[in-house]
Amino acid sequence: MLLTSYLQRDLGVVLLRPGSGLLHYFSGRARLLIAPEPEEYKPLPSGLLPAVNQHLSADPRLSSFLLHERVIAAAGGISSLREWLMRGRGCQWAHGDDYHHDQMDTLDYGGRPIRLCWYHEHRLREQSLPELDVLAAQNVAEWVIYRARTHFRFGEEHQLSLPELCWWAVLADVSDLLPDAVARVSLRLPPAPLPAGTRREADIVWDKDPQAIINAYVDKVKPVLTVEVDPEPAAGFMLRPKLTRWTCENYTRWIKTQPCCCGCGMPADDPHHIIDHGLGGTGTKPHDIFTLPLTRACHTRLHDDVAAWEAKHGSQLFHLVHTLDRVFGIGVISTAKKRGEN
Ligand SMILES: [Zn+2]
Ligand SMILES: [Zn+2]
Ligand SMILES: [Zn+2]
Repeated sequence: MLLTSYLQRDLGVVLLRPGSGLLHYFSGRARLLIAPEPEEYKPLPSGLLPAVNQHLSADPRLSSFLLHERVIAAAGGISSLREWLMRGRGCQWAHGDDYHHDQMDTLDYGGRPIRLCWYHEHRLREQSLPELDVLAAQNVAEWVIYRARTHFRFGEEHQLSLPELCWWAVLADVSDLLPDAVARVSLRLPPAPLPAGTRREADIVWDKDPQAIINAYVDKVKPVLTVEVDPEPAAGFMLRPKLTRWTCENYTRWIKTQPCCCGCGMPADDPHHIIDHGLGGTGTKPHDIFTLPLTRACHTRLHDDVAAWEAKHGSQLFHLVHTLDRVFGIGVISTAKKRGEN
């Protein structure tokens, strides 16, 4: 809400005039947070702020990226887009009489969904119109930005920034698709110079391509592990297979770089293989995947009294799930694939 304040210095109070339509926002006992007006709100009229339009979704520099099939797949695929679209309200067709049917459906427009009422879905089906091209592309772009925003758990009021989108692209393994102009902005390089006049060939100096620089950075943050799945392991066909312990030093080394899971905030230098819970009896260690980040001191406390440690900090299983959630979420372990593949 954007309001002008009227200072009554003699009385020591400040008055606000939200108007009767907004008064109910002030009827509760909850306190309000007051903040100065940000620069970009200056042109807006007083009153309730409009829902944030994500300006990146309309940025023409990004359209090829946002509409790329690999980016769509990385954001969850068309079915997820369709589901998101149907959470919205109203027929998206605004170019005719005002009649709309009250039931909504999605029109599959060249593989991209558009939310239309039954009436317009019926009328526009099989048609190809510039207005539909715009709507379909806009839906994809807005949804990809939505997915990137919610990936970082930013609220609706958060304006997703270009660096945030670029970082999402890295995590989603689609940073190689970022357009040159965008890659330049994120590396703080000047815009690509346009050649002017005649130049001798000897004058032309080839800069390193911004995209190549980003790709080189991304290679440095490649996952610690990639996974291959064997759906028919030989031992799976044995009645009593001998179980071998999975060890992976790369993984336990990564665990050591994480903060201690007890919440003490210290770096975990001493990976702990979980014990009890049917795992890790005397003299046997469970697989390296069942490892928690702990400091030496916290680790000792856990082994001294498992029950007391769990009573205080929570079950090891909870911390394991939490650790694995992060591991897969940030791509420490990811499915074996070549870069560029889906
Ligand atoms: Zn309609
Ligand atoms: Zn600790
Ligand atoms: Zn341990």
